[in-house]
Amino acid sequence: MTASIPHIDAVFRLLKKQMVEYESPIVSQKKQDIPDTPFVTFLIKYNTPEKVVKLSEQKIASLIYPVGFYKTKAKRIKEISQTLLDKYQGKVPDQFEELLTLKGVGKKTASIVMVYGHKIYDFIPVDVHVHVIANRLGWVKSKNPDETMEKLMKIVPKRYWYDLNNLFVSFGQNICKTISPWCSKCPTESYCPKIGVLRYR
Ligand code: SF4
Repeated sequence: MTASIPHIDAVFRLLKKQMVEYESPIVSQKKQDIPDTPFVTFLIKYNTPEKVVKLSEQKIASLIYPVGFYKTKAKRIKEISQTLLDKYQGKVPDQFEELLTLKGVGKKTASIVMVYGHKIYDFIPVDVHVHVIANRLGWVKSKNPDETMEKLMKIVPKRYWYDLNNLFVSFGQNICKTISPWCSKCPTESYCPKIGVLRYR
């Protein structure tokens, strides 16, 4: 069913081993591992669309600051909360295509909601880290994260889908950095053709 990726088992084993040295992953399953940031504090306190729509955009922006694009995100959070109340009885849809109809929600966010929110493991969330690393490793040749997601879902064995995002995001934040990767510290260097890497440390 899937084309094979050379050394994929070794790459996953090495990245999992390395991951314990990194900080908490972006999406954690354990409450004690959730990072203590204003954005997370906001999500915990205002955890229903009913609570969110009572806040002004300005208030939301001040609560989630300094997250990137906080003003735009505040606007989207309020808009989406209102849509959830108007169209979905306050629930987050569990259909991928329906999630994509929410304003500001693309394939990355929709797949994160499906996998980590609804526990429906039929998607590989792909952000810039996953996109860059999959291309450097030569697993895919793609122009953007959406194309990478489509290609990875055809070639990565399903047993790795759940772990791939967490592993690659942590790996991208710590070693395989977007601008200048730390190839000299990389546990998977012997399996990496460094495709497209112009400068590394
Ligand atoms: S060898 Fe360099 S480019 Fe390849 S995965 Fe490791 S850090 Fe990234």
